[in-house]
Amino acid sequence: VTIIKSHLEAFEDGVWEPTPERIRLTVGEIDRLSKLISEVGSLYSIEGTENSISLASVNMSEEMARLALSFDPMFANKSVVLEKEIEHGIEAVADIAKMRQAAANLLSNALRYTDSGGHVLFSLKSCSGSLEILVRDNGIGIAKSDLPNIFERFYRADKSRARASGGMGIGLAIAKAIVEAHGGNIRVESSEGEGSAFTMTIPLEHNI
Ligand code: ADP
Repeated sequence: VTIIKSHLEAFEDGVWEPTPERIRLTVGEIDRLSKLISEVGSLYSIEGTENSISLASVNMSEEMARLALSFDPMFANKSVVLEKEIEHGIEAVADIAKMRQAAANLLSNALRYTDSGGHVLFSLKSCSGSLEILVRDNGIGIAKSDLPNIFERFYRADKSRARASGGMGIGLAIAKAIVEAHGGNIRVESSEGEGSAFTMTIPLEHNI
């Protein structure tokens, strides 16, 4: 808001010529702000209250296969391979819209933080009463010192990279809030320069 206000005041005072390029820059700041507001909104709508999720029986295999498919064009555009290993017939009780969002956040990150020519694995499997969604990339990885903080809202490992890649540092906080609202958890393993693996686990059954 401060940036936008200062731009507009500079235009108003005539100290900064409102060229198309500068107007674009200002509009870009407004877009960033809009994205932030909507992401914060979805975070608060999930966090802190378990009754904000609406549970129903769902074929998780079909849902996750469809989600992964919808990412194919974006991966192809960046020449990153998206490999899918989806166990068939996994039925679960979950808020499917929210679980889709959590998985989409991990897939977006994997794509964002993996260079062209890289590889991402998206897998879904069931094990002992739970289901596990894994997103593993061979991208830039995360420094050991950053690992404890990445699930905090607005935390970004590298401020300059952050700006260039356009994220808000909130996708993982949202994913964590969603899986925790399902009674599950999210964990990460990562080595800088080698890649990252995020695993979300939620129980298959809930008392609806
Ligand atoms: P955003 O990606 O919008 O910055 P997130 O909350 O999704 O926000 O992620 C927080 C930070 O964790 C990112 O800024 C990035 O530094 C790091 N991160 C998340 N996913 C990955 C990944 N797959 N590879 C490398 N770094 C990642």
